[in-house]
Amino acid sequence: NEEEEKTEDYLFKIVLVGDSAVGKSNLLARYARDEFYPNSKSTIGVEFQTQKMDIDGKEVKAQIWDTAGQERFRAVTSAYYRGAVGALLVYDISRRQTFDSIGRWLNELHTHCDMNVVTILVGNKSDLKDAREVPTAEGKGLAEAQGLFFMETSALDSSNVTAAFQTVVKEIYNILS
Ligand code: GDP
Ligand code: MG
Repeated sequence: NEEEEKTEDYLFKIVLVGDSAVGKSNLLARYARDEFYPNSKSTIGVEFQTQKMDIDGKEVKAQIWDTAGQERFRAVTSAYYRGAVGALLVYDISRRQTFDSIGRWLNELHTHCDMNVVTILVGNKSDLKDAREVPTAEGKGLAEAQGLFFMETSALDSSNVTAAFQTVVKEIYNILS
């Protein structure tokens, strides 16, 4: 049967990191369920969601963890990061302060995870064109300097959401396979 023909299965833990209200929970809701919450509170966060992907005919599962609001108290626990092989480092392009926090989140990530954790810098809320405070070039520049992938996304209009998660999953797969 089909189940037995599968040669290998992969399960990758990926964490969402970044300041409160940058859109982490909505990126996950958009990716995993194609849903969006216009006035979400941190309470919508679930512990994690598992998404299946097919790469080279192999079933790859991404187990994506959401902070569920812990970051508001700067109390993201080491258990949250433990075993993560991928990360989305998220800021809000309409709030510079959230971009300024990226260095701190990157330090925290590298404190708790392997230095080789596959990381993408994500400038979310790209739909808020008139409110932009962080130019695309600045995000791209930071990503290049730190050796991160980079993408601007919108959980509201869906742009690049799947691409951002898939970039991380595919890179992890390429490294580990
Ligand atoms: P979290 O604290 O990082 O998990 O952020 P949330 O996902 O809870 O989102 C915080 C707020 O930003 C909510 O009111 C969302 O509706 C809103 N939001 C999230 N993503 C986007 C986006 O891409 N565009 C816009 N315009 N708003 C967004
Ligand atoms: Mg959240």
